[in-house]
Amino acid sequence: MNVLSPSLAASSGMADVIGEDGKIIVPADVEDAIRTLIRWSGDEPEREGLLDTPKRVARAWREYCRGYAEDPGLHLSRTFEEVGGYDEVVLLKDIPFQSHCEHHMAPIIGTASIAYLPKDRVVGISKLARVLHGYASRLQVQERLTAEVARCIWDNLQPHGVAVVIEAQHGCMTGRGVRTHGVGMVTSRMLGCFLDDASSRKEVLALMGRG
Ligand SMILES: [Zn+2]
Repeated sequence: MNVLSPSLAASSGMADVIGEDGKIIVPADVEDAIRTLIRWSGDEPEREGLLDTPKRVARAWREYCRGYAEDPGLHLSRTFEEVGGYDEVVLLKDIPFQSHCEHHMAPIIGTASIAYLPKDRVVGISKLARVLHGYASRLQVQERLTAEVARCIWDNLQPHGVAVVIEAQHGCMTGRGVRTHGVGMVTSRMLGCFLDDASSRKEVLALMGRG
């Protein structure tokens, strides 16, 4: 038995307890809620194929929403000040990610391009993806996800500029409602020089393949 981070406990109202098999023990009320949803969907939670589904769904959601247990800004706390005179844009392009929309809890699947123009500090490039996943692993709307990633980099690295462009498909559009397939939604957030200076913005969008 082993209790995970206090932040997880605080944000979710309950601590994860790990069983002998190394898996999270799913509280009975959570399993019941998923059984109710299965019944509401028109199936029988008692049928064999669905017996273990509530536990699986519960653990899957713990994983989809693991971002609540982390502070994405911490990924940017270790910076390198020696940038060797490098004063050009740093870009991580087309990072695949998955999130879930807060309106339907349906999947959002897409890619993000994240760029910043360093002032005097850079981070390991993989950290930008970690920031993205930290915010994506929560219930989201694409606009807020885009803004949160940009703001986190802006606040923590204090660069000359930040540019974040996200393109994603929303399960709540493709699988229900208007059932529109193949339509991607694009959101962007520009800060600093990319917001203020049209030629810098043009340059970073061209690097992202969106010029
Ligand atoms: Zn939705």
